[in-house]
Amino acid sequence: MGKLDNKIALVTGGTGGIGTAICQRLADDGAQIVTTSFGGVEKAEIWRQNQNFDATIIKCDVSNYDDCKALKEQIEKDLGVVDIVVNNAGITRDGSFRKMDAEKWSQVINTNLNSAFNISHQFVEGMTGKGYGRIVNISSINGQKGQFGQTNYSAAKAGVHGFTMALAQEVARKGVTVNTVSPGYIATDMVMAVAEEIRNQIIAQIPIGRLGKPEEIAALVAFLCSDDAGLITGANLAANGGQHMH
Ligand code: NAP
Repeated sequence: MGKLDNKIALVTGGTGGIGTAICQRLADDGAQIVTTSFGGVEKAEIWRQNQNFDATIIKCDVSNYDDCKALKEQIEKDLGVVDIVVNNAGITRDGSFRKMDAEKWSQVINTNLNSAFNISHQFVEGMTGKGYGRIVNISSINGQKGQFGQTNYSAAKAGVHGFTMALAQEVARKGVTVNTVSPGYIATDMVMAVAEEIRNQIIAQIPIGRLGKPEEIAALVAFLCSDDAGLITGANLAANGGQHMH
């Protein structure tokens, strides 16, 4: 028996590097997976065919509240009430602050921070009604320590944890936990595409001497979603190989 049998898990951005590993791990633990596609139905369909688990893919822009409302209505009509939400979809639009235009700022705040509200707002009531729920918000090491060229991303990711702590207090008595996971540099396609020399400079700053694996983030998310983690709420769990400790 899996730890997440009979649970419906929504993972936003499940087709991406870390999202795929989270979907895989929650599916291995028994959950029924729903994920969002933003960049195109065709791309998402190819993704689905390459996985060894079943997933329902629904088109949704997490930065758009009405899209998220429609997502909730479709999931409840087709599958039922969602037990687990992993707010994982995210983007970067880097640039030094001097060159940071309003569009890059808003895109990143809308996709990485407002999405936590847009999505969670749809599903919290179903969870509190059931007396059980798990929300995991994927932030970043750069939300904890700041990063040159990422005023937008660092602000959004730091904001995500403020959201986590406040919502965790509001729903704690109803059996719903809300936590943040803050990954360091993870060996996704995006990070592996960085020139080797630069990648080696990044690795040199990581005490364990290597990049993280998407599966390691997924394992932490799966633990937070399990019954074993009922005591943990409002926490920000760093998974960064020791690159930032606080
Ligand atoms: P990724 O491979 O680029 O995947 C991002 C996912 O988000 C894709 O599935 C993408 O969907 C989706 N997405 C983007 N904009 C969206 C929108 N408006 N609506 C719905 N979905 C949207 O990213 P990743 O590296 O796996 O990162 C996942 C999360 O971890 C992000 O929140 C990121 O900030 C965080 N993180 C990553 C690292 C790292 O080293 N990779 C480190 C720290 C934190 P489409 O493909 O359909 O556009």
